[in-house]
Amino acid sequence: MEIKKLDTLPEKIIIPLRQHRGAVCEPLVKKGDRVLIGQKIGESAEYQSSAVHSSVCGEVIAIEEAAHPDGNKVMSVIIQPEDSNESVAFSACKDVKPDQLAKFIKESGIVEHYGIPTHTVLRPKGKKIDTVLINATSSEWIGGTFKTPGDYASQMLDALKLLMKAAGAKKGAIVLRTDDKESIDAFEGIEVNKKKLKVAPLIGSRNVGYYFNEQNSDIVIVSQERIFGKKILNFFTYRVTGRKVKIGCDPTDVGVAVCGIKSAKALYDAVQTGVPFYDTVVSVEGVSNKMEYILVRIGTPFKDVIDSYGYTGAIGKIIANGVRTGVAQYTDQVPVTKGTTRITIQKPEEVIRDEAIECIHCARCVDVCPVELIPSRLAVMADQGRFDESRQIHVENCIECGDCAAVCPSKIPILQLIRYAKDAIEMAYEDLPEKESSNLKVGCGCGGE
Ligand code: SF4
Ligand code: SF4
Repeated sequence: MEIKKLDTLPEKIIIPLRQHRGAVCEPLVKKGDRVLIGQKIGESAEYQSSAVHSSVCGEVIAIEEAAHPDGNKVMSVIIQPEDSNESVAFSACKDVKPDQLAKFIKESGIVEHYGIPTHTVLRPKGKKIDTVLINATSSEWIGGTFKTPGDYASQMLDALKLLMKAAGAKKGAIVLRTDDKESIDAFEGIEVNKKKLKVAPLIGSRNVGYYFNEQNSDIVIVSQERIFGKKILNFFTYRVTGRKVKIGCDPTDVGVAVCGIKSAKALYDAVQTGVPFYDTVVSVEGVSNKMEYILVRIGTPFKDVIDSYGYTGAIGKIIANGVRTGVAQYTDQVPVTKGTTRITIQKPEEVIRDEAIECIHCARCVDVCPVELIPSRLAVMADQGRFDESRQIHVENCIECGDCAAVCPSKIPILQLIRYAKDAIEMAYEDLPEKESSNLKVGCGCGGE
């Protein structure tokens, strides 16, 4: 599928010097400098950091704090673009050793959409990764990023091998969505090590380990249902590998690196051409009667993306990264970053302003919770400040999918209340004490397979 490209240049490009969790980069340019496309304009010596690059050719007009889609203000390089495609000289990075590849990933500014620099996911300090997973269950990104399904499959396989090489991992898997027939068809029949691939469904105890053995292959393609949520990594890891991740830990603690399609594609492109991560595909919702996809330069203000569709209607709310779990923006001058996956426009009449009423104990929230929590009780405890009690019923296991709030007939802001409790717990404990085992699907505390 061909996708729209935002060809018109914004009046200014705003490139935050932090686009992930970790250190803010130091600017490598100053006001008045002329920069080229792909030029590195910020870096940090900290391990938990990733370089940032200019997405345009133009003049640096300011280095100052500016709005960031996560709701904060972040030091940013503001560039006035000029109508030129002048870029720095790019050089490919093929056939390099794992150490060089990991360094190249940091230098190329590749960051996971969930906010962690990719090189630190692949090489977490003090831990060893044995399995790399590409979470390809969000197929709406795929259509906009690859010309054909065949391109998608072959590039993702190459990217998986690169990620495994950088991590020093022996095994790797691409996880598709069970109902994504186009992607499944694209992978079926492709050859890896002279064997034809067969997309295998994850059912019951048949996780990737089962298929590594059954297919006698270090690379497998599997499928599972899509899981929504901001903090799905631990749950996803358990579903795919059967490895339980302790509360307060992440998949790297059980030897698993989870990467996304965007970072995998960015790595593939960077290795092939040397071009760093400076543009991205974003889905745009609410500007027409269907979901739109657009390739934009990082640093483009949301307003320019919205205007490119000729949208003239009234705007009630702009949300970054999805209605259920995203962040409402206070200005349309906030820029697209490496972590931006979706821009949603809501008309004034679509903005939900219902007053919450009392819980009617319908248990709909309990029925939909994918990690078997009791959202109604968690909401009450959070509201009353009973945070320790909420820990006892595993508030930290919430993957922030928002399903409970979406079905609640009383319009109780369950997710916000749960986030409030989680934040309070995080601030209250420097080192969270060990928790008893639970019978939940994740975070049982056993920490192993
Ligand atoms: S408590 Fe709500 S937001 Fe959290 S995982 Fe369950 S349904 Fe999703
Ligand atoms: S869905 Fe809402 S009203 Fe129903 S039990 Fe849950 S919190 Fe209460």
